[in-house]
Amino acid sequence: MKALEQKIVTEGNVLSDSVIKVDSFLNHQIDPLLMKQIGQEFADRFSDTKITKVLTLESSGIAPATMTGLILGVPVVFAKKRKPITLAEHFSTEVYSFTKKEMNNITIAKEFLKPDDNILLIDDFLANGQAVSGMVDIIKQAGASLAGVGIVIEKGFQHGGKILRQEGIRVESLAII
Ligand code: 5GP
Repeated sequence: MKALEQKIVTEGNVLSDSVIKVDSFLNHQIDPLLMKQIGQEFADRFSDTKITKVLTLESSGIAPATMTGLILGVPVVFAKKRKPITLAEHFSTEVYSFTKKEMNNITIAKEFLKPDDNILLIDDFLANGQAVSGMVDIIKQAGASLAGVGIVIEKGFQHGGKILRQEGIRVESLAII
């Protein structure tokens, strides 16, 4: 996606040999116009399948996921990294955070994922695939179907994309660096 690639080149900062910082449009400040284009692109790429819900992980997946849900006209659910006391019946799984270097027990309320759901997973980055694998695990627990995974920035030099594709999961990345 040209507009995204341009943005990464002009505003992205390489922090180390494996981490890129794009805080000016995706991970801290958000560029709403770019997010809208991203949502449209995901909606177009998955137009061949009937998505019932978009799923992401808080917090940086929420903006692109919401724009995708808006264009597809379906609800957006985000997995929580800390279990609030208000959460009753829920699915959960362990996810290792690439950027925070810690384990998170991610949770989703059972009422928002049903066996007849066909889920589009969205996330901001794909590195080793831990976040996506955790959400795929929750989709399995719910007995729902996975239509595919939409990633804003895939780091092609790490192995998440290869592993997920080898598992037969459809992964659409808007920029691969
Ligand atoms: P994975 O679970 O695929 O190893 O890593 C993906 C998650 O880690 C994403 O949800 C994203 O928040 C974070 N992440 C991975 N690599 C980067 C990176 O280079 N920059 C930023 N800002 N976040 C990253």
